[in-house]
Amino acid sequence: MSSPETVQTFTASRWTQGNRIFPTKISVSPVQVIKTKRSWFSSDEESINIRHISSVRIKTGILWSDIWIESSGGTNQIYSHGHTKRDAQRIKQIVEDHQRTFKEGAFSDTAATRKCPHCAETIKADARVCRFCNREV
Ligand SMILES: [Zn+2]
Repeated sequence: MSSPETVQTFTASRWTQGNRIFPTKISVSPVQVIKTKRSWFSSDEESINIRHISSVRIKTGILWSDIWIESSGGTNQIYSHGHTKRDAQRIKQIVEDHQRTFKEGAFSDTAATRKCPHCAETIKADARVCRFCNREV
């Protein structure tokens, strides 16, 4: 679906408190979510690895949405406000998509395997014919 380099960035509205001059940016990549908050002299960055995200919550007000990205264990969380409802939902959706992709990848990595007795290549535990040497196993 998306290449590993894909990073999507969402910027909070400048019309919301604390975002007038340097609006908060939320960047979502397949690996992590980064919140970047600039100030006059520095740039503050918080990040959570996609694998460690336990939930993404959205609270939608009259005009703007707040978003919480929580890590498992609750050791850190990213909070940002002043996003449009559409952006907030998009952030949640992308994070959940990346998590699904990651989990599917993790499962296929740890799928049961064994060695082919003929050629010693690694094949699936349920395989009847080795995909390397085409012999019955
Ligand atoms: Zn084989």
